[in-house]
Amino acid sequence: MRRKLVVANRKMNGSLPSNKAFLEGLLAGTHDYQHADYAVCVPHPYLFQAEAILNGSPIAWGGQNMSRFESGAYTGSVSPSMLVEFGCEYVIIGHSERRQRGHDTDHSIGERFEVAIKAGLKPIFCMGETLAEYEEGITDLVTIRQLNAVISEIGVKNLARGVLAYEPVWAIGTGKAASPEHAQNVLSFLRGHIEMLDAEVAKNIKILYGGSVKADNAAKLFSMPDIDGGLVGGASLNTDEFVAICQVAARRLG
Ligand code: PEP
Repeated sequence: MRRKLVVANRKMNGSLPSNKAFLEGLLAGTHDYQHADYAVCVPHPYLFQAEAILNGSPIAWGGQNMSRFESGAYTGSVSPSMLVEFGCEYVIIGHSERRQRGHDTDHSIGERFEVAIKAGLKPIFCMGETLAEYEEGITDLVTIRQLNAVISEIGVKNLARGVLAYEPVWAIGTGKAASPEHAQNVLSFLRGHIEMLDAEVAKNIKILYGGSVKADNAAKLFSMPDIDGGLVGGASLNTDEFVAICQVAARRLG
């Protein structure tokens, strides 16, 4: 059985004191590490603080993006090995907020997935359709295109070295989460597609749902058979709310 995973995407928020309070609150509030895993993706300048506070605990940490390149004239970028130096286990790649601003394409995300796993990081690879695509009824087409771009870059076996996250763009930061049924349908479709290529990978790979997950909708979402946890943005800015979501995830298998 796949363990649940809850990941905080703190985006470009916080300060040294508020980040410290969040990390300490998370450590104090999460007691059940038997049934679920937790991770926090903080802005890069706070990675040293995440490492200092979480090192030795069961809570993992990671970056929110990284360069496709190992070093060189890429002003403002952070390399995979720099994230590894700060103890990161995870890195988010392909977030819609980066795709929309033209920083990422299907192809460059595939490349990022590959360099991340080569560096020993677990990429959290985000996919999802826009509102217009959702209304057009082409969610499956869009997410499969995004998934296939990565599979063609790294091969299906290597997909299992990361985590997938279905994040409909229209649900991110809007307070309008996808219904558990819609999220389940998409995840089941994606897992079914992977299964046709490799049944073992499909069985084991974690697929998260992201988009306005809150303490009061997490239980229904996480009870869906193909939803292995959540990628949580806005609600991770409130320690109590995020801890409550982690507790829901732990209970699902408890
Ligand atoms: C996200 O940005 O990854 C996200 C899921 O945001 P929110 O939870 O705020 O919708």
